[in-house]
Amino acid sequence: MKILFVASEVVPFAKTGGLADVAGALPKAIRKIGHDIRVFMPRYKKIDPEKWNLKPVAQDIFEARMPGSELIVYFAENRYFAQRDELYVQKGKGYPDNCEAFLAFCRAAIPFLKKINWIPDIIHCNDWQSAPIVLYLHEFRKRQPTLKRTATVYSIHNMAYQGEFSEEKIPLLNEADMGNLVFGGKILFAKAGILFSDVINSVSKTYAKEIQTEEFGYGLEGLMQKRSADVYGIVNGVDYELWNPATDKQIIKRYSRMTLSLKVQNKTALQDEMGLPQESVPLMGMISRLDVQKGFDILAEAINGILELDCQLVILGTGNPKYHRLLEQIKKKHPDRIGIKLGFDAALAQRIYAGSDMFLLPSKYEPCGLGQLISFKYGTIPIARKTGGLADTVHDYDAETGEGDGFIFEEYNGSALLDAVKRAIEVYKDKSTWKKIQERVMQYDYSWDASAKKYISLYVKALDKVIK
Ligand code: ADP
Repeated sequence: MKILFVASEVVPFAKTGGLADVAGALPKAIRKIGHDIRVFMPRYKKIDPEKWNLKPVAQDIFEARMPGSELIVYFAENRYFAQRDELYVQKGKGYPDNCEAFLAFCRAAIPFLKKINWIPDIIHCNDWQSAPIVLYLHEFRKRQPTLKRTATVYSIHNMAYQGEFSEEKIPLLNEADMGNLVFGGKILFAKAGILFSDVINSVSKTYAKEIQTEEFGYGLEGLMQKRSADVYGIVNGVDYELWNPATDKQIIKRYSRMTLSLKVQNKTALQDEMGLPQESVPLMGMISRLDVQKGFDILAEAINGILELDCQLVILGTGNPKYHRLLEQIKKKHPDRIGIKLGFDAALAQRIYAGSDMFLLPSKYEPCGLGQLISFKYGTIPIARKTGGLADTVHDYDAETGEGDGFIFEEYNGSALLDAVKRAIEVYKDKSTWKKIQERVMQYDYSWDASAKKYISLYVKALDKVIK
């Protein structure tokens, strides 16, 4: 199959969250199976053309290889991307020309494919930034025989981000987009992906169901219900070439399941780096966009209770200034208990996964969540709320049977979170039990290979629809 994979962020070129991890790893895994998959992404200002060896292939389109792979990545340039320092959000606010930037990006894709005479069987779009491509293909397919057999897949990584733009932007649309990109008097990019794609998927089975309900559908549950026969859920994988404590170059001491006793050296180094005393108390890590989605409201409720327990907390994150202030206040109050770093730091993230005993994911909602899957590989035990992908991948530890791989709570409130933390700390005290759980989770295989095969089946389903 020939597949064009379109995403607005791709590791290692540009990243703000989990979509970049997916887009950096899934195409590699699909290519390994033997398909001709290529990636199409924006050329942001922060992507260094020399470092990645970008070469022009067509007007405003550049090409590079994914490091460590033969995978081709295309970078579409436009004047909006060329002027911004970040991807779409700066200091918690979307850029005022996001609508222009991503319309231009989406309009460039199909003409480019025709120009290089590479017509894919599948165009796989991801989240709102590439959703209009689904609509353009839908329109082109009506009149252009060469595109008649190209099918579309639309993946929803986060339903809360829909590419919503106010009514003043409507004149930017041309005839083809008009109407089909407008929803409730506003522009809504995600609508195009949901209504016009051949199949839809989301990044876990639970989230794929949740987004068809009012609570998680963010106003689009009606459209999702219309398409429910075509909605699938495929859980994300982890790129173990990047995330592996046995080969991780960013951590002080590499370790594996066999040499688990070495992990503690990463803990003391992390305590040192984050300005915490080197005590042998349980250390909880958290790495997250600072957004209401990630549960900072209930963390704020629970934080005093948590820090009164004998434990430490390390948080790495950036996002909403409100939560920056919140974390700074907590740090002032408990300087010996909590270490914070407000920013995006990929290397520190690796040291936190390796150095923490537990990993906090108190999310309000969570499409898939990667933190728990990465934590498993590092023998770091998740404390997570039962929602979306967390509900599918973290199983509550049961002291009676000894089964489970994390600590789950259901209610979205501070006391439920605090209870889960208390339970985790209790179990942590029993060193041999804790080690058993660590050994269990480190064996899990959340590599992309299995999920990539599921994506191939999904592509076949989409193709079936256009061939019929
Ligand atoms: P989301 O896509 O909603 O942000 P995911 O759990 O799917 O959440 O993916 C988050 C990814 O981004 C993980 O790889 C996590 O380690 C990483 N990450 C989040 N915030 C930061 C940060 N401030 N610095 C480094 N990595 C981060």
